[in-house]
Amino acid sequence: MNKRWTIDEIKKFVEENSTSKLLTTEYHGFSQKLQFRCACGNNFEKNLTKFKNKHQRKCDECQPPKASR
Ligand SMILES: [Zn+2]
Repeated sequence: MNKRWTIDEIKKFVEENSTSKLLTTEYHGFSQKLQFRCACGNNFEKNLTKFKNKHQRKCDECQPPKASR
């Protein structure tokens, strides 16, 4: 089982592990898209799994998504 995260834990994780800020204030589950503000000022959406496990911690301009083949 995955650990159940709270919005406060996510916020802390985001602050400690990225240059982005969490804008979302409620967390409903790991598949939920969370809103972030990148250090460059762009807003972007990621679910927690992508942010945390796949290290997608910036907007698509600062960190372009890898082409999936
Ligand atoms: Zn950016």
